[in-house]
Formats: sequence, structure tokens, C-alpha cells
Amino acid sequence: MIADRYDAFLFDLDGVLYRGAEPIEGAAGTIATLRSLGKGLAFMTNNSARTPEAIVAHLAALGIEAGAAEVETSALTTAELLRSRAVVSAYVVGDEGLRTALAAAGLTLLEQSASDAETVVVGWDRGFDYAELATACVLIQRGASLVASNADASYPVEDGLVLPGAGAILAAIETATGVNAEVVGKPNAPIFRAALARAGDGRPLVIGDRLDTDIEGARRLGWDALLVLTGITTEDDLHGAGPKPTYVAERLDRLVEQD
Ligand SMILES: [Mg+2]
Repeated sequence: MIADRYDAFLFDLDGVLYRGAEPIEGAAGTIATLRSLGKGLAFMTNNSARTPEAIVAHLAALGIEAGAAEVETSALTTAELLRSRAVVSAYVVGDEGLRTALAAAGLTLLEQSASDAETVVVGWDRGFDYAELATACVLIQRGASLVASNADASYPVEDGLVLPGAGAILAAIETATGVNAEVVGKPNAPIFRAALARAGDGRPLVIGDRLDTDIEGARRLGWDALLVLTGITTEDDLHGAGPKPTYVAERLDRLVEQD
């Protein structure tokens, strides 16, 4: 089986293990089989708004066993990156998951009235407004760096529609300031490396549903990747330009089927 060739399995969430509130067939059984084989697992998401505990609870409700220490979010990767650089203060445009991760890494989160900050950190923020945009813009002009948990333009909701993601908020700040952000989440390397460490290292396989984030990120690192067709990407999309996954599967349980 494909799983025999790898030690560490780095799972994207939406489109791989669930679609919104719906479980994806075979996901719970595949995770359980990998655990019974003693494989290392990690669950990684560009979504910076949810805490690892909230993600674990969501997975448990779908019958998927996961521990908080196996979850890597773009918020956690961002917090660790800033901590490693000894950054101590940040103005945050983002939701609870990002704020919690940054505070836990020892950063002081500044109020909107702050006159300066070392860095402006941007993630998805459903309360984003002009006042926040103006504050971020002024702080960056005063010398704050600009770091984004991810730059996803949108995310899918019901009926084939999309809503604005962190990348849309980030674009407003970049447009206003002319400054380009450092982006931490997929397809950039920091979140993949952090997820591999959570899975206990060894030979990794990335499992995802998006060519532009999951599969592109694996390609940049020279890692193998399995694309599942249960999310964003369709069979037709594979004929276009873009990164080629090592494997393509209709269903996740292909990973643990005998060849
Ligand atoms: Mg996905």
C-alpha cells in the first residue's frame, strides 16, 4: 500500500477529512488504520481562526481521533516564527485562534490606539473594518513588519460560492501600504516543516485537495504528495499547468488499500 512508503502523514483538513460539517467517506477509517500501523500523523490548516482544541473537537465529532499536539495551524506557525525572532509586540488583524497562539508565544498584543508595533500580523478576521485597516497602515509606515498567517483569497461555502479569506484582507493592507507581506502558511515551507515535526519526522507524505497550496507546498520541499478529489480540485484541473501530485486518489482510503 502507499502508506508503507512513508513515516509521517501530513493531512490537510477541509476537502480531505471533511467538507464543512460533513464527514468525508473513509476518512475516519484511514486515520485509524494509519494509527494502528504506528505511523506519525499531523493535521495542518491555513485557517488561523480556530484553536487546535476546537479542531480536535470537530474531528472527534466526525469519529476521527486526533490530539491537539498533532495540529499545526498557520496561527501556531506564525507565533513560533515570531517567537524565534524575539519579536515581543504585535498589532493583530485576526480572530481568536491567531490571538491565542501569539499570546501563548509570549507576544504582547497591542490595542488599536498603539502608536508603534514591531510587527503587524494578519489572518482571517470576520470583524475587519476600516479602522483596523487604517491602524495597520499607519503602523507599517512607522516601521512595523508585515506578516500574514496565510494569503488564501477565499474559502468555499455552500452552493459553490466563496467568501473572502485572509488574503483578501491582506491585499487591502498591501494595497494601502505598497508593502508585501511575509506569508507563513501553505504553500510556504514553515507550516509544512512544523507539521512534520509534530508527526515525529521521518519520510513525509502530504495529503491535500488543493494544487496551489497543499501540492505546491510539497513540491517546493521535494516531498511526495497525494491529491484527493474529494475537495476543490477536479480531474479536469489536473490537465492544466501547476504542480503534479505523486498520487491522485478518488478516495482517501486508497492510501491504506493493498496494491
Ligand atoms: Mg483543503
